[in-house]
This record gives sequence, C-alpha cells and structure tokens, in this order.
Amino acid sequence: MNPTTMNLGRIDAWIAHLAEETDVVAHSDDLTRYLTTLSRFWSYSVRNCYLILAQRPTATRVASRKTWESLGRTVKPGEWRQAIQILCPHFKKGHDEITGEETQDLIRFSTGYVYDVAQTDGEPLPEVPWRQTPGFDDLYGWLVAATRRLGLTVAEYDDLEEGVHGWSNGRGVIAVSTRDLTGSRCQTLLHEVAHELCHDRRARLSVSRQMVECQAEAISYCLCQALGIPTPNTPSYLVLYRIDKAILMANLEAIRAGVARVLCEMNRASLHGTAAA
Ligand SMILES: [Zn+2]
Repeated sequence: MNPTTMNLGRIDAWIAHLAEETDVVAHSDDLTRYLTTLSRFWSYSVRNCYLILAQRPTATRVASRKTWESLGRTVKPGEWRQAIQILCPHFKKGHDEITGEETQDLIRFSTGYVYDVAQTDGEPLPEVPWRQTPGFDDLYGWLVAATRRLGLTVAEYDDLEEGVHGWSNGRGVIAVSTRDLTGSRCQTLLHEVAHELCHDRRARLSVSRQMVECQAEAISYCLCQALGIPTPNTPSYLVLYRIDKAILMANLEAIRAGVARVLCEMNRASLHGTAAA
C-alpha cells in the first residue's frame, strides 16, 4: 500500500461520487429524524447557556417538559424540583412607522424551566448511525509515524466525549480516540492532518466552520479512497454540517489542493527515517 501510487487525477470523480452519496444520505430517514430532533432543542442565548451551566454543569441536551414529552420522554419523578431555570424573553409585535416592516420589541423576561436529558426517561433519542471500520492497524501506524515526522503531535485518548472521534487545535496537536477501530482512526487522523496543514488558526477564523469541515472531510475522503479505507460516515458527516453537492463542488479547487498538499507532505515524511513510536 504505497500512497505514491495515488492518482490525483481521480479526485474529481471521487468528489462527484461523494456529492451523489451525500444527497442520498441527506434524505435518509435516520438522518432526517436526527436533524428534526436537534431542531426541537432551543438554541439558547449566551446568558441562558451560562445559567444552564451554572446550575447543571453536566447538562448536554436541555428542553422544556413539553418538548421532552413530544419526543416520547418524561421528566423523572425525583427531578421535578431540580428544574434548570432560564430566562424567557417576551416580545411585542409592532410596525416600523417609516418602513412599515414588522418589528419585535423585547418587553420583559419571565422564568422558564427546562430539564437535561439525564433528568428524563423514555424513548431513546435518535443518534447518527456511526459505523466503525476495523483491520487497518499497519496503515494506522504508518500514518501516525508520518504525521509525527511532519512535526505534528498525535495524542491518543480513550476518554474523548461520546461522539467525538478526534480534534486538532490548529497549533500542531491532533487527538484521536482509541475507542474507535483502526480503519476509522485512519480517517479521523487524515481529517485532522488536513485541518493542520490546510487550515491554520487564521484560516479557521476567516473561513466558515462549514467550509473548513467540508474541505477537511472531503480531503480525508479522497485520501481514504486512494488507500482503500472504507468511509461509511462521510456523507452523514457532511449532512450534519449542512454541506450539499453545490458546496462540495464549489470547494473542489481547495479540496484538490488539500489532497495534493497532505499527500506530498506525508510522502516526504515517510521517506525520512523509519516509523517513530
Ligand atoms: Zn474537522
């Protein structure tokens, strides 16, 4: 398995295929259910996030009793008195005298009560079906060694938050979850290497998160195609960031350049010295 044999000319075909797959996944029942559920949770103001964290630092998903009931869950009997208090804004509708446009004026706040998912019982919430890929131990070892020779730090963790497969900080540190099987770890590592090589901290601030994720995931997808690593989760990942065919195609240049960059650097690193620990 030699990455130098990768055919960069195939990138366009891979991306076109990925765009089709992403479109199909975007309409799958599982993802639709997941996204619909997510949209039921309020998006809280900064002040309310602070209030929620101050009262229940472990909170993950928070909603009112009514919303929980609409999702088939009820607040546990012992938790009624432990409601998290937030501020609910009340607006009054009016009209702008000059433009005639409808306006909304904040008139007061009232106290609202919400509960964390851990305070409720009932139907499980839909999750993104994330598939694991086994059997790529040697390749994973090679990729970790090449990444380290690029001067990047690879840290392996067995306690990353549920659903987090890895991260990178834009300053050369990459984390990978060892709870994932090695094939999945290879893709996570390539995704994070793409971030580190193509998105420095300034780029991360000036380019939208959606574009940055689109590029990193598509770059890792192409590299995995070339290395023969299955990528069952990429279409779902893109859909979660609301990335569709048009966005993928609009990023084709950046993806092509990213694949070439990561490939070049990894090859250069692999030519220098033997695998590091
Ligand atoms: Zn990312």
